[in-house]
Amino acid sequence: MKFLSLIFLGFVFNSVLAQSGVQQNRIRPVLVIHGGAGTILKKNMSPEKEKAYMQGLEDALRKGYAILEGGGSSLDAVEAVVKELEDNPLFNAGKGAVFTNEGKIELDAAIMNGKNLAAGAVAGITTVKNPITAARAVMEKSEHVMMIGKGAEKFAEQQGLTIVDPSYFYTEERWKSLQKIKRDDSLKMDTDKKNKTGLKQSENKDHKYGTVGAVALDKQGNLAAATSTGGMTNKKFGRVGDVPIIGAGTYANNTTCAISCTGWGEFFIRLVMAKSISDMMEFGKMSLQNAANEMVMKRLPSMQGDGGLIAVDKNGNIAMPFCTEGMYRGFIDKNGKMEIKIYKELY
Ligand code: ASP
Repeated sequence: MKFLSLIFLGFVFNSVLAQSGVQQNRIRPVLVIHGGAGTILKKNMSPEKEKAYMQGLEDALRKGYAILEGGGSSLDAVEAVVKELEDNPLFNAGKGAVFTNEGKIELDAAIMNGKNLAAGAVAGITTVKNPITAARAVMEKSEHVMMIGKGAEKFAEQQGLTIVDPSYFYTEERWKSLQKIKRDDSLKMDTDKKNKTGLKQSENKDHKYGTVGAVALDKQGNLAAATSTGGMTNKKFGRVGDVPIIGAGTYANNTTCAISCTGWGEFFIRLVMAKSISDMMEFGKMSLQNAANEMVMKRLPSMQGDGGLIAVDKNGNIAMPFCTEGMYRGFIDKNGKMEIKIYKELY
């Protein structure tokens, strides 16, 4: 008798939950990723290379989505995706990152938890194999939000993260890109006018950017964002881009959305890109798509900047605007549908 009434109680409890819509796993997870925006044209891409990029994005998507599907946190998912892309030499983050003007590799990364606005970032690091994991350690194991250079490296080592020789990050292709940009630049030096950022147009117009990032909504309704980059080829020693600046290149807030940016970082910093979109949603009651389009397709190009971003809102809606020729990108949406794209298209 006792047993029967327990079953009955369980049944009543479940149907009350179902009616009120508070059923567990009601929220369908969403994952969106990018591998950088820039001058990415089909005519410049070999079929093999295109396949390798698509495969790299798919592997990262599957890895992150498996975590979300299994009930894991958005934070774990975005970190896993970014780690995977950092380890892939095709992308400008971790191994395969671009070179500074001095021929070094200086890495930036950030991660943010939309649930409590906790955030962690590292900038200008040269020896930590996975900068995104260092950013997460700053968020979870220190009382700070951002650590830079030698101090960040020392902290990462103390936390037991994998430390590598800077030569680990080297790739032939990125080295050649630096040499090419330096050559082109000295040819164009006389005719170029310096723009407001102190960077010359020629340094940026004809090469692709990089950066990898992920945003996710998990089954608990929590949003998270993660971004990692080598920055821009030929950047000055000590230059820090938008990626590790919370609110510029990376932002997550459960009341609005999670965003990861890629593009000409100086403009993303000056526009406070990601937080502006969140504010437009929170205070201006705009949709994610409208707010993201306004910032990326109008304000960014109006300042002569360019780039793109990926975003997901608290209801699982996705936006992926970019004003460059292409952006490596992919998602698995709330219906479980996967898409991976590289070239320009309207979203
Ligand atoms: N936003 C990055 C930076 O300026 C570069 C990129 O996304 O390619 O450091």
